[in-house]
Amino acid sequence: MATHPKPHVVVLGGNFAGLGSAQKIREYAGDRVEITVVDKKSNLLFVPNIPAEVFANHDPALSMFMDIIKPLDHDGIHFIQGEVTGIDPDNRTVDYVPSERPGSESHVLRYDYLVVAVGNRLAYDRIEGFAEYGHTVSDTYHGNLLRRYLHQEYRGGHIAIGSARFHQGNGAEGLEPYPGGRIPPAEAACEGPPVETMLAAATWLQEQGKGGPKNITVFTPAEIIAEDAGETVVNQLLGIAGSMGFGYLNKTEDIARLTKDGIEFTNGASLEAEVKIIFPDWVPHDFLRNLPISDNEGFVVTDLLMRNPSYPEVFAAGDAAAVTVPKLGAIGHQQCDIVGRQIAKDVGAMSDADADQHLQPVVLCIGDMGKHQAFYIRSNTWYGGDTAVLKMGYVPYMLKMQYKTLFFSRHGKVPAWGVDAAQVMAEKSLAARG
Ligand SMILES: Cc1cc2nc3c(=O)[nH]c(=O)nc-3n(C[C@H](O)[C@H](O)[C@H](O)COP(=O)(O)OP(=O)(O)OC[C@H]3O[C@@H](n4cnc5c(N)ncnc54)[C@H](O)[C@@H]3O)c2cc1C
Repeated sequence: MATHPKPHVVVLGGNFAGLGSAQKIREYAGDRVEITVVDKKSNLLFVPNIPAEVFANHDPALSMFMDIIKPLDHDGIHFIQGEVTGIDPDNRTVDYVPSERPGSESHVLRYDYLVVAVGNRLAYDRIEGFAEYGHTVSDTYHGNLLRRYLHQEYRGGHIAIGSARFHQGNGAEGLEPYPGGRIPPAEAACEGPPVETMLAAATWLQEQGKGGPKNITVFTPAEIIAEDAGETVVNQLLGIAGSMGFGYLNKTEDIARLTKDGIEFTNGASLEAEVKIIFPDWVPHDFLRNLPISDNEGFVVTDLLMRNPSYPEVFAAGDAAAVTVPKLGAIGHQQCDIVGRQIAKDVGAMSDADADQHLQPVVLCIGDMGKHQAFYIRSNTWYGGDTAVLKMGYVPYMLKMQYKTLFFSRHGKVPAWGVDAAQVMAEKSLAARG
């Protein structure tokens, strides 16, 4: 096992939250720490723009991957391409197996600080009939299956879009991100994507001369869809969607099974559909279950400074963290900054006052609607905050596309001004249009 003269920070995962945390730690802690990122693959998958590529009939695999080895190396961050198989918080070690080629031996890595940013399993394997009859847009493989189906085989039948039931753990209970607020229980992991997909699919149907919103039903296990965007925003969204003619089914509880002809739900309801676009349960990785740092489902428990209360040298960021609800990259982005500041504080590179700025989650979501239009949501009312903004138009669309370009050209280092500028532009320039 290698020893390190400086505190060794091991970051598990190299996608949005892992790459972002490693970069923020380097930015704030400078060369006072040694940093190693471990991911089983050596590229970042830019998930949010996959749906837009699918409807545009572009192969998302050609444009949604970004190499992470060189950007990490540029910042003096080591990279190990390995699959993490275990964490031992008492001995401060991580087990991993090099994953470039199958058959590798197991290794142990020692850490002084650990950042768990491995995301979740998207549990399609738990949905009966998904392999035969389901579609989705959460990676390029499935995106391409849907792309080919829509553009080559689609017979003009009904399209159903929605989520399976999310099983949130108890790891964020008692946290108060805003005065009097909380991290509420969610019944779906991330409902920005179903809303985005439904709007984009309707535009696509219209463009193809194959129908429009009336051919689409969106469903949710919850009382209302995208409940985390807050009541004001959701009511506006539902009003708009309803007037456009979309079908809507709520309180489905969970997906019982997909069949050739549609979807059966555990509450007894069913939907007929030729195309079933599904967002599954976001489930913690097996190696995180039953650890003293994890909650009853396997999400990593943290306080609002992203630190595990029992093991303060362990942090989590992104979807793997219990506090990340809904599972949104934008919330992970806020957490990376906090992790960077906390570790910088621990190694004497930042004052307590600058470091101790706790998480105040904001649901920030820009969804493509097709025809160069997008919706923009910025809301924190679900957590007890007082901001709820919904805008629609060309500016949010341009911001969504520009954000990816900026992200790739800056190798993930999207400056704070980028987000602020996006906010100002989207809200100010659309104010007149309401
Ligand atoms: C269709 C879709 C659209 C979305 N749109 C948006 C959006 O517009 N805005 C937004 O904010 N969010 C959006 N999201 C959510 C966003 O994609 C996630 O919140 C984000 O990807 C989480 O980042 P992460 O780094 O925590 O996890 P991931 O992106 O899941 O990354 C986890 C990383 O850990 C690695 N890993 C996993 N297991 C291991 C292991 N055992 N060993 C080593 N490495 C491992 C993986 O290879 C991966 O690189 C969308 C999601 C979907 C599905």
